[in-house]
Amino acid sequence: MNTIGSRRNFLAQVAFIGLSLPNVLRADGNSSIPTYGISNVVKSSENDYRYYKVDVPSSTPFHIVTKEKCTLNSPFLPSNEYETMGKPFPINADSSKPVALIEGKELGLKGHIEVYDLPTGYRLKYKFSPLIEIPSHTSVSSDYLIDTQKILDELPESLHESLVKAGAKIILAKDPEDAYYHYAPSQKEADKNKKPIQNGKWVGYKDGQWFDNRKFSHAPSRNNDLTIYSPEKYEDPLENLIVDRKKYKNAFKYTLLHELGHVIGNVKNHADKADFNLAFESDKRRLKVLKNNDVAYAYVSKYEAFAEIVCCFLGGYPNERKRDTLCSLYECSEFVRTKVLPDLGLKFSENDVEKIIENHYVAYS
Ligand SMILES: [Zn+2]
Repeated sequence: MNTIGSRRNFLAQVAFIGLSLPNVLRADGNSSIPTYGISNVVKSSENDYRYYKVDVPSSTPFHIVTKEKCTLNSPFLPSNEYETMGKPFPINADSSKPVALIEGKELGLKGHIEVYDLPTGYRLKYKFSPLIEIPSHTSVSSDYLIDTQKILDELPESLHESLVKAGAKIILAKDPEDAYYHYAPSQKEADKNKKPIQNGKWVGYKDGQWFDNRKFSHAPSRNNDLTIYSPEKYEDPLENLIVDRKKYKNAFKYTLLHELGHVIGNVKNHADKADFNLAFESDKRRLKVLKNNDVAYAYVSKYEAFAEIVCCFLGGYPNERKRDTLCSLYECSEFVRTKVLPDLGLKFSENDVEKIIENHYVAYS
């Protein structure tokens, strides 16, 4: 017998047997899976990894790292030091079952991150919304993935379920190339030659909002389309500027809720219904003066009006903009409130609306 070989075997055995860390609970099938909390965000900066310190009683703390590039299946890494078997969580005989759970609150996530002890090391998994998809040709940062999940976590459950059931999708990708043009290559040239709408720019910042004038930037722009394309970074070609959505969290949230508005409209073609059409025409006729420029976009078309109104009901935009949108487009808003949202399990009384907008809910003229 080779001495070195047997020593190796012996060491391997020690590694396996010696995993009995005092006071670390085992997930042995008889007891429930132990849950640990994140006690500290060890390092945090915009462009770097973030380290989250997980408290393991009477053992060295465990760090998890949000990855710069990630896919839905593998959004987090255990820090290298602990990416070994048996430390600090014991091996579970059944590697398909998690050995521990980490409370996701500190990362802004609802529920638990599951820790799997695989032959290759620890694998951390979190159940993201089935609405989110990261295609295999691209990747995003875990922060962007988490930001997206946080927005979806705030949606009422019945709405989330309806969207999943309808087959809605939010495709996350690194940039417009991977997001839009991968699916519509011919659109790329058309967009390059497109005349800018605002400020002589394709993409820019105005009135506290980023805008993106590319034809394909709105994701569910086509009829019946239930897919939102959501690039993490996009380029302003005139300014030679890379815009990172993670840095404009509110704008990102509003954009996503607006696009979800289109998706909701597309599920049953609500914006094409005769009643909605009448409401839109009537709102346009009634409104003599636009009191708030932020509402102008809602008048671009009945589809945009629909999306903007849904965005307001779902909690997008500051209160003032919500108020001015719903009161300017009062009849459209009433259509959405009474004919669309109840189907999705969302019931808003007029009183609820007044609470949302912190004002009287009346038609502007
Ligand atoms: Zn839109």
